[in-house]
Amino acid sequence: MSDFDYDLFVIGAGSGGVRAARIAASHGAKVGIAEEYRVGGTCVIRGCVPKKLLVYGAHFAEDLEDCARFGWEVEGKSFDWKKLRDNVADEVDRLEGLYRNTLKGNEVTIHDCRASLGGGHEVKLSDGSSVTAKNILIAVGARPHVPEIEGCQQHAIVSNDVFKLDKLPKRIAISGGGYIANEFAGIFNEFGSTVTIVNRGDRILRGYDHQVRDRLLQISMTKGIRFIFNSTFDKVEKKEDGSLHLTMNGCEDMEVDALLFATGREPNVEGLGLEEAGVKTGDRGAICVDEYSKTSVDHIYAVGDVTDRVQLTPVAIREGHAVADNLFDGQDRTVDYDNIPSAVFSHPPIAAVGLTESEAREKLGGAYKTYTSDFRAMKNVLAGRNERSLYKIVTDANTDVIVGIHMIGPEVPEVMQAAAVAVKAGLTKQAFDDTIALHPTMAEELVLMR
Ligand code: FAD
Repeated sequence: MSDFDYDLFVIGAGSGGVRAARIAASHGAKVGIAEEYRVGGTCVIRGCVPKKLLVYGAHFAEDLEDCARFGWEVEGKSFDWKKLRDNVADEVDRLEGLYRNTLKGNEVTIHDCRASLGGGHEVKLSDGSSVTAKNILIAVGARPHVPEIEGCQQHAIVSNDVFKLDKLPKRIAISGGGYIANEFAGIFNEFGSTVTIVNRGDRILRGYDHQVRDRLLQISMTKGIRFIFNSTFDKVEKKEDGSLHLTMNGCEDMEVDALLFATGREPNVEGLGLEEAGVKTGDRGAICVDEYSKTSVDHIYAVGDVTDRVQLTPVAIREGHAVADNLFDGQDRTVDYDNIPSAVFSHPPIAAVGLTESEAREKLGGAYKTYTSDFRAMKNVLAGRNERSLYKIVTDANTDVIVGIHMIGPEVPEVMQAAAVAVKAGLTKQAFDDTIALHPTMAEELVLMR
């Protein structure tokens, strides 16, 4: 008989927490999990999944425009936001049900409560009860950051709110230049809103290759998205008609119907009892962990966004899985953070893996080569859509090993998943050259760059 209620107690049933709970239980551990909102976490409930469904919904605007050149006439087309919103919500409900069933099927006990550390091996639950666990995993994720600007907290929305909007804003300002800002800019623009991205700095998508970023900027501007750089908000006021007056610093004031803040996500650590439990935190409250995701307290682990390593779902899942395997299957697993592919589901999307050109310049001291293919996808040519794709390969000039791939164009995230395997495997540019093209595709450009 164990001295504890559980072998593992997981706080937060999102990407990392659910995976860790399920795997630990499959190894025979007695597992409990607490979730204060909805099982599935950010990714399933208000992140990757509903966002991607909105991206699909938005892209029909272009398909309906382009289809005429392919002989299709669609009469009386119209868009019903509420229908899409509600269908997406139904899909999210379905997925939450599947996640709950998986946990229950693995005999994980779900506590629909908020949880906090009670000191030692105790976890306090918001229903007034408390449990003990031999090991505790903190997988509470992150939440949108909204700056302390007059009127912002009351009148601005964040990504969570987009999925519940009653109606589409005619005019929306989006604060931020990262992937969430650009994805929602694309979505609202395709739905017909007038979109302005306001960025404190002078560039979008920091961390992505400069050529790919510039291409998205140029295409987005051609599609009608307005970009304002080096500007911030001074004040947000709601007017009688419900619209917002934005007092700006660095550009002219604006009148909009919605203001969306997409200015980063901060670890969800408030009220968790970290300090009392002796769990150390670092920048912006992120929980400090070692390579095994162990915190400063021996039996407490943390994975996913709350550790602010790489804020992506597959990374949180990998970390959670590793913790469960190490604790309950005697394995010695760590997560390899090199060459993690990522995407921006903008219109068109971006995908990237490995070093950008400027990172290669810094890291390889100039001993790098780049190859680019700048082309118009066949479908865009017939559709009369003047939108060019760009693929770029960065190699180590001494070894010919591919150290980075960067792409913007239709479906590039789908192409990137396979290309990332090649980069992860350390393949050379010659290996790409030796591969015969699959014709006619857009992806064949990857093996045709000379
Ligand atoms: P989460 O999935 O956030 O789960 C944490 C859970 O803990 C939540 O359910 C929360 O309610 C719960 N919780 C918090 N505190 C407590 C508490 N005290 N007690 C009990 N429960 C608690 N990533 C991608 O890889 N691809 C994408 O395309 C992508 N798109 C995104 C789009 C948006 C709009 C957003 C916001 C994020 C997106 N992400 C994407 C990021 C991805 O969602 C996160 O990296 C991932 O969900 C992190 O998983 P996690 O387990 O750390 O936390």
